[in-house]
Amino acid sequence: MPAKLIDGKKIAHFYRNSIAEEVKQLKQEGVVPGLAVIQAGENPASQTYVRMKRKTCEEMGIYSVLIEYDDNVSEKELLGKIDQLNQDPSIHGILVQLPLPEGIQTENVIDQISPDKDVDGFHPVNIGRMMIGKDAFLPCTPFGILKMLEYENIQLGGRHAVVVGRSNIVGKPAGQLLLRENATVTYCHSKTENLSSYTKDADILISAAGRAKFIHGNDIKPGAVVIDVGMNRDEDGKLCGDIDFESALDIAGYITPVPGGVGPMTITMLMFNTVKSARRSLLEA
Ligand code: NDP
Repeated sequence: MPAKLIDGKKIAHFYRNSIAEEVKQLKQEGVVPGLAVIQAGENPASQTYVRMKRKTCEEMGIYSVLIEYDDNVSEKELLGKIDQLNQDPSIHGILVQLPLPEGIQTENVIDQISPDKDVDGFHPVNIGRMMIGKDAFLPCTPFGILKMLEYENIQLGGRHAVVVGRSNIVGKPAGQLLLRENATVTYCHSKTENLSSYTKDADILISAAGRAKFIHGNDIKPGAVVIDVGMNRDEDGKLCGDIDFESALDIAGYITPVPGGVGPMTITMLMFNTVKSARRSLLEA
C-alpha cells in the first residue's frame, strides 16, 4: 500500500483558521499583530520567501512592513534598524530573511533582535528556553513539523527519530522538539558514516540536508514516517526534496511531498508566533 500523504497545505489551512480567529479577537481588544521583515540583498529565493510571508500576513489580517536594503548595507545600519523595531510598539515580530550579504555576521544580527520579538525562534534566549522546556518562540520549520505530526496523530514517545542535518535553524531544533516528545533521537550529518544504517532504523525520519533526492526507498524502514524538509532542484530544475519520492512512496507509512509539505507549515508557524507575541504584549500592558 502506498504511503499516506501528509498534506502540508491542508494542515496549514486548518491551523491558519484558528490563528485568523485569534487575530480578529486581538483586533477587538485593540491590538493589530505586526510583523517587520528585513531583507538585505537581492537573492531571488529570499525575495520569493519574503513575498509569500507577507502575502500570508495580508490574508490573515496581520500588519506587515518590509524594510529592504541592497547588498552594500552595513552591519551597523542593520543593527540600528533592529534596535528601532525593538522599541516600536506596533511591531510584535521581527524577521531577518537569511542569508545576509557577505561581510555581515548573521549571529550579531540575530542577537540584536529582542527575544520577545524573535518570531523566527533563532535567538539564543529562545533556543535555550526551548532546550530546557520553557515557554519560547519555537523555530518555525521544526515547530511546523511537530504540528503536522500532531495533526496526523503520530505517536512519538518511545520511537526512534533520525534527523539528517544539524543546522541551528532546522536539524538541531527539530531533534530537540522530538526529544521533548519522548522520542529517542539520532542526529546524522555530513560526517556520518554509513548514513543508510541509521535512516533504515528510523521510525520517524526527518531529512533537512539540502541534497536532491539523496535518500531512496531502500534507505527507509518499511512503514516509517518520512518528513522531507529539503528544498532542492533536480537535474531538470524542478523543485524536489531530499527524499526520492517515487521510490519512498511504496515503502514509507507516511510521507510529506515537496512542494506542499513542510513549506506551508513553516509560514503558518511564523504567523502563529507573531500572533502569540501580540497576545503577550497585551497581557504585559
Ligand atoms: P544547512 O545547509 O544549514 O544544513 C544542512 C545540514 O545537512 C548540515 O548539518 C549538513 O551537515 C547536513 N548534510 C549535508 N549533506 C549531507 C549528507 N550528504 N549526508 C548527511 N548530512 C548532510 O541547511 P538548512 O538546515 O538551512 O536547510 C536544509 C534544507 O531544508 C535545505 O534544502 C533548505 O532549503 C530546506 N529548508 C526548507 C524549509 C521549509 O520550510 N521547507 C525551511 C528551511 C530550510 P554538516 O553540519 O556536517 O555540514
